[in-house]
Amino acid sequence: MKKIGLFGGTFDPVHHGHLAVGRAALRQLGLDTLYLIPASSPPHKSDQLITPFFHRMAMLRLAVQGEPRFVVSDIEGQRSGPSYTIDTLSQFRQNLGPEADFFFIIGLDAFADITTWKKYQELLNRTSFVVIDRPSHGCRTVNEVVSKCFPAYEQEEKGIWGCEGSQRIYALEMEPVPVSSSMIRDRLRRGEAIDDLIPAVVVDYLQCNRLFPAAKKKGREN
Ligand code: ATP
Repeated sequence: MKKIGLFGGTFDPVHHGHLAVGRAALRQLGLDTLYLIPASSPPHKSDQLITPFFHRMAMLRLAVQGEPRFVVSDIEGQRSGPSYTIDTLSQFRQNLGPEADFFFIIGLDAFADITTWKKYQELLNRTSFVVIDRPSHGCRTVNEVVSKCFPAYEQEEKGIWGCEGSQRIYALEMEPVPVSSSMIRDRLRRGEAIDDLIPAVVVDYLQCNRLFPAAKKKGREN
């Protein structure tokens, strides 16, 4: 069996938090490969203006240069309509065959809403979930969310829950990295530096392509 991590998101833009999560998942779960899968049309962000897919892909590719076990996948860019994870999982199963053991990597903010995802129960049956605490997004823990939303799951050992007929849920142990893409977009709009939040090659890319331009300051124009 090959252990395959699937890390979906908007990545608008990719940041150090995403990369730290990916590295921790590779290490803790002993994954063979971690696919970073930008959503072409994220169903939960349909009311937001999102950077074009090809720019988000390009930034991801730059960010993972020199990290051989990270692979950037354009699978969701090849489909039209909302990017549902259940469809992505089916495509990965078809492409990689029965020998792949899937681990879907997800922050607690997103996992706490999982019951609103298309066919979420089928997702839980077909892939393990690896959930990361995100204290910057509220004070709940993976433990609290699993006990509240999924009472049928039993804790098998610290940070691992199981349920008959479903794949396991794992809590990823890592130091929190309190960074988000919205924080980066906000800073850029205010004209502030972001060098501490994303890799330098990505800073260069978004400056060259004038992504997220700073908002014009109010005041007298000369
Ligand atoms: P935004 O601020 O625009 O909502 P984001 O920083 O949450 O973006 P996404 O691309 O939407 O980034 O996130 C993809 C996945 O990565 C989600 O499951 C999210 O919870 C998780 N994630 C993002 N940043 C972090 C972080 N700093 N620590 C842990 N998980 C994270």
